[in-house]
Amino acid sequence: MAKKVEIVDDEGARASGAQISMCRELTNPLLLDDNLIAVCAQCFKGIQHRPNLPVANLIKLCEACVYATAGDPKFIVTKTTVDEVRDYFIKKGD
Ligand SMILES: [Zn+2]
Repeated sequence: MAKKVEIVDDEGARASGAQISMCRELTNPLLLDDNLIAVCAQCFKGIQHRPNLPVANLIKLCEACVYATAGDPKFIVTKTTVDEVRDYFIKKGD
């Protein structure tokens, strides 16, 4: 079953009580040029995330660890990230 993802602004993200940032696995090249590189807090694999996380001190986990840890998590994404990803694909021509 597909997961619902709520799009929120930065204030909505701060108000959400978010504790975990689900990050993509590290790729070469990075999925977006300005992604930041980190390490999954649970399995220590290399991960990447957008530089503009609106909530400080989020625990950064890879996708596999999010599902293993959070069970049935609620997902949010900021409008900033949606806009950045949309612009990337428009520029790339996909
Ligand atoms: Zn992990």
